[in-house]
Amino acid sequence: MRRILLLTAISAVGAAPAQAPRPSTAPTAIVGARLIDGTGTQPLNDSVVVVEGDRILAAGTRARVPVPRGAAVVDATDKVLMPGLVDVHCHINQPAEDMKRYWTAQLRWGVTTMRSAGNDKPETVPLFRQTRAPRQGSGQAGALFAPRSYTAGQGFSVNGPYPGAPVFRPRDPDEARANVRNLKAQKVDVIKIWMTEPKFPPDVIAAIVDEAKTQGIPIVAHVTDVASLRQLADQGVTDFLHNPRDQGVTPEIVAYAQSKHLTFAPTLANLEASWFYYEHPEILNMPMLQDALYPRGRQMLADAARKEATLSAPDLAQRKARMRDQTYPFIKAMSAAGVRVVTGTDCGAEASQITPFGHATHREVQMFVEAGMSPLAAIRAATLDAARVITHSEDPEYGSIQAGKAADLLLLDADPTMDINNTIKISKVMRAGQWVQ
Ligand SMILES: [Zn+2]
Repeated sequence: MRRILLLTAISAVGAAPAQAPRPSTAPTAIVGARLIDGTGTQPLNDSVVVVEGDRILAAGTRARVPVPRGAAVVDATDKVLMPGLVDVHCHINQPAEDMKRYWTAQLRWGVTTMRSAGNDKPETVPLFRQTRAPRQGSGQAGALFAPRSYTAGQGFSVNGPYPGAPVFRPRDPDEARANVRNLKAQKVDVIKIWMTEPKFPPDVIAAIVDEAKTQGIPIVAHVTDVASLRQLADQGVTDFLHNPRDQGVTPEIVAYAQSKHLTFAPTLANLEASWFYYEHPEILNMPMLQDALYPRGRQMLADAARKEATLSAPDLAQRKARMRDQTYPFIKAMSAAGVRVVTGTDCGAEASQITPFGHATHREVQMFVEAGMSPLAAIRAATLDAARVITHSEDPEYGSIQAGKAADLLLLDADPTMDINNTIKISKVMRAGQWVQ
């Protein structure tokens, strides 16, 4: 009954934000699925996962986990259950009502956690906190039914990275420290530094990093060259978006990343988006994908002349090869050495427009497998490991299907360990114990 009300509400107003139904007190038991728990261990067949409130109460084989009396049973025979996806590199600088709509689009794609890595205006920062309010999804005032969302606020960038972007551009170390304190007062979750050209002078970077340390806010940085990586990592920064592309991956850089406990979100989906959706009209035409694009991005992807120019460009094959050469060996070498490589896509980036919410995160997982990760490792990268990067904790409260963790779940109609492209065969999504669709 509650789900029917939810669906009616959605269809009546088009792509309106999802409304969470009031939680039922009875637990839900998802029974019979093949369970991929996000930790990278082998899947369990014929599982039972019990959800109560916004938490997982128990998860295991049918023989070990009884279905509680009075539970709402979801028959998941022939389906696969995995944790909701986590995207550590998004942007969502839109009017508040539109943000809610794109968050809903992400939820429907099974992305249950997102981090916005800069370019967020101060007035939207409180919205992010509302997505993580206690008893999220309970319909309580102050709680917003959306992916669990984090923000870096404006961030630090000399050039934007697009005209008019909300960023700080401190001219000296004192101003940099004042900007960090401003972000602290806004209660942002993380501080973003773009190490793009033109770069801030080293004393400004050092002041940002040092003041962030003093204020207890972690840093995430955009880096595409080894010198910038070392500059920040030597000052204690561990969380990196993109990867160095000015030199090939070497044993020295791998050893350095290991010794400093660095993590990387290579952000492939954004690089690939400029041709991928033209080459895959069956995905582009999915209504769920259209809902996940900004109007201008939708227009760009619908533009036949632009499509023709992109696909017939003489350097397209070269661009594809360059993307793979600059990222896949890095991903393979780092992940094989135990350096954390996690999902981040640049979805919602203003400069790109055509990196959609939701689907981009699935593409990132798929490309990790193309780069040489096993499907189970790629799924861990997109769930538990990405949650670890965001929370700076080895045991985050979400990202895996284990007793006590948040009930953020993705139920699939086909097995991604057989074919990683099956992660988009979505049956249902649960966020904080509530079914999204
Ligand atoms: Zn970005």
